[in-house]
Amino acid sequence: MSIELSQRMNFVYGEPRELAPGVVRLVANNPSPMTFKGTNTYIVGTRTLAVIDPGPDDEAHCSAIVRAVGGRQVSHVVLTHAHGDHSDGVPRLVEALQAPLAAYGYEPATSAASRLAPDGREVGVKSVRPDIVLRDRDSIVGDGWSLEALFTPGHSPDHLSLVLVGSGILFSGDHVMAWNTSVVAPPEGRMSHYLESLERLRGRGDRLYLPGHGGKLADPERMVRGYLIHRRMREDAILSAIREKPRTINEIVGLIYPSIAPKLIRAASLSVQAHVEHLIERRLIHADDPTSFDRSLYPV
Ligand SMILES: [Zn+2]
Repeated sequence: MSIELSQRMNFVYGEPRELAPGVVRLVANNPSPMTFKGTNTYIVGTRTLAVIDPGPDDEAHCSAIVRAVGGRQVSHVVLTHAHGDHSDGVPRLVEALQAPLAAYGYEPATSAASRLAPDGREVGVKSVRPDIVLRDRDSIVGDGWSLEALFTPGHSPDHLSLVLVGSGILFSGDHVMAWNTSVVAPPEGRMSHYLESLERLRGRGDRLYLPGHGGKLADPERMVRGYLIHRRMREDAILSAIREKPRTINEIVGLIYPSIAPKLIRAASLSVQAHVEHLIERRLIHADDPTSFDRSLYPV
């Protein structure tokens, strides 16, 4: 497989670390198999500031952000997407900094609003009401910096990547990361959107991605290509398995992840389901509607 992941990350919880001129990272202390060492919060600017992704609702993390801000004006709190590990800390931080929230502002349908992470936690997109609605190509501007939103749905339906204009830096949220591939899990995650959002990043010439989890990512477009190849290979494996004979998602998970840890089976099943939906959309396979983990899938 041509994807080279890196788990390297230098940090201390609660201590701000400068990653580029005018860009500081703080890592929240919420490590897990889904969040790696925890959620990254970035502070952008030197005079007036933006804070990207408050992280979980955690008093110590919020205090660390306020300390790093050091009394300077925060003109925007920005959200890459409204999964709880990035957004649960919004109310506490917005209150502490007296800053407006800028985000996509997706309203989840109540029925499909949530799903369960492998550990049983709810990881659905939360309802957030931004003061400033950011859509594709919208910008927010501070003293000496400007952030441009790129709409990159797929991991979540509201996902924004943020370009630090003129720097070659892109805050990639959970769309592209160095430590692992991104989770694309239905009903909110959609593989067709995810792949289009990866294609959007190709050829932009960014030199550094700063993701929502894990360390910084140099040579990022190489990783984007690797992500695309990885997904194509996974999809080919799923399609060949179904062409061999009708299969269920459960069977496919057993075939393509033969030694998976039990606690990751649900996440793997959702990932296979995302590929299956993408194959159905392109009429390469069909299913007894609606798809579930134990219904048969047939080649077309
Ligand atoms: Zn996340």
